[in-house]
Amino acid sequence: MDVDQRIEQFAKMAEADPENELGHFSLGKALAEAGRFDEAITPLRRVLDINPEYSKAYEVLAAAQRDLNDREAAVATLRSGIDVSDRRGDRMPRDAMARMLRDLGETPPELKNPPRKQAAPPPGSDLTCSRCGRAASRMDKQPFKGELGERVLNHVCEPCWREWVGVGTKVINEMGLALSSPQAQQIYDEHMIEFLQLEQ
Ligand SMILES: [Zn+2]
Repeated sequence: MDVDQRIEQFAKMAEADPENELGHFSLGKALAEAGRFDEAITPLRRVLDINPEYSKAYEVLAAAQRDLNDREAAVATLRSGIDVSDRRGDRMPRDAMARMLRDLGETPPELKNPPRKQAAPPPGSDLTCSRCGRAASRMDKQPFKGELGERVLNHVCEPCWREWVGVGTKVINEMGLALSSPQAQQIYDEHMIEFLQLEQ
């Protein structure tokens, strides 16, 4: 599947389910990766309207604004994004955004450094969920086979997993994914990783 086909599929998904932040995020990210920065802005802003806590969306939006030479907008997005991601403990996007801000000649805000996500769980629980941040017990069994299934088992709580199963079904239907094809499986997995906030 080439880039344009992927973009078209994500656009369909965003349109079919306008309140689902994931479709808009995938669309904005794919457009930015294709160098279509001006088109990427609207879907990425839409993500943040739906979910202002979506750390990674700030990062992708700020990079698109920077590449459009809209320095002022990029700096504003980075400041909000660093604030949100630091509070949430999303260190990867936070540190990437702090670097971007420094490259733009600005001083990043002081970081509060809350505990790292996916670190040791609190006593009495098996894990700290990567999506909702709550302490939880491991699910009774691994939800599916393979390395990714193992990561889900070790880092995701059951309610968040169930939520993904619903969203994932929409992803399959709206994008017309045939999971027998490796490309479709890859798109599905990427959405799952994104939704469950499993760091790569
Ligand atoms: Zn959870």
